[in-house]
Amino acid sequence: MLKVSGLIIAMVLFWTTPAIAKPANPTFELITLGDTGGIQDGNLSAFLLRALTEENYIALDSGTLVNGINVAIENHAFAGLKRKPDASLSAAGNILHHHVKGYLLSHGHLDHVAGLLIASPDDSSKPIYALPSVNNTMSGNYFNWQAWANFTNRGVIPHLNKYPVIDLTAQQKVSLQDTQLKVTPFSLSHPLESTAFVIEKDQDMFVYFGDTGPDEVEKEGKLAAIWQYLAKQMQTKTLRGIVIEVSFDNQRPDNLLFGHLTPKYLHQELNKFYELVSDKSQFNDMQIIISHIKYSLKSDLDPKIKIKQQLEATNPLCFNFVIAKQGQRVVL
Ligand SMILES: [Zn+2]
Ligand SMILES: [Zn+2]
Repeated sequence: MLKVSGLIIAMVLFWTTPAIAKPANPTFELITLGDTGGIQDGNLSAFLLRALTEENYIALDSGTLVNGINVAIENHAFAGLKRKPDASLSAAGNILHHHVKGYLLSHGHLDHVAGLLIASPDDSSKPIYALPSVNNTMSGNYFNWQAWANFTNRGVIPHLNKYPVIDLTAQQKVSLQDTQLKVTPFSLSHPLESTAFVIEKDQDMFVYFGDTGPDEVEKEGKLAAIWQYLAKQMQTKTLRGIVIEVSFDNQRPDNLLFGHLTPKYLHQELNKFYELVSDKSQFNDMQIIISHIKYSLKSDLDPKIKIKQQLEATNPLCFNFVIAKQGQRVVL
């Protein structure tokens, strides 16, 4: 009985969370194509981001692509997009071919790239942007004519040349082709190199974090480097929001984190960030979107509910946490 009433309280807490805040003058639109970090195929890490002044998205990882676009269409997440007329394509085909202008890949784990690989035979041509180690993983392990055909312009021949591969340099800003966005990548600690992408549109910023462990466990100071960079940028720019992972709940022991965050460690990192920022009011409207919660096959409490509870249980700085949900549209 106790267990049942606890579950009901948790569900009420989760579902009565106030609607996602809508800033007065939003700059970006973020659509969640996939929200889990495994093991639910069809709903793996992927987001679309665009500046609201244009109709072109960039994909942030692509664990799930076509299925995520279909769920977002059903959810009317693209209602504000002026779609390019093309009678030859389905609604999902139209979005993928005409409105997704490139892929930013955080790392080569399958839960971040499987959707891109699977969709590649029917995708349109567009660049893949990543750090060199990530592009090497893609070429060596997937686009190698063994795991998959080589749709890129490098690696094992023949090259199908659909995806020009662009090597990013850590902490160097570049423009994303056919969009109004610029990106600056930062290396993250994970069993293999992962990436955070700081995306800018004029004076507004947004950050997408690929998988990452906490600095206290990883001992490489990589998150500290990003917090310092952002705090400095925020003297003249506005950080509208971030997507960051929380894979496990607080009961997960450090030696089983495998380069991931828990609510406790996310708070620890955000507190460090908060201390560095001079204008604390920027946190009032900043949306912190939680991704990569591991789907559970166990019968106990839904990990999303548990993690949301743990994030809100001790939140003295009142960070605005939003649990990512496949098909969700957020403006920020
Ligand atoms: Zn992952
Ligand atoms: Zn990973």
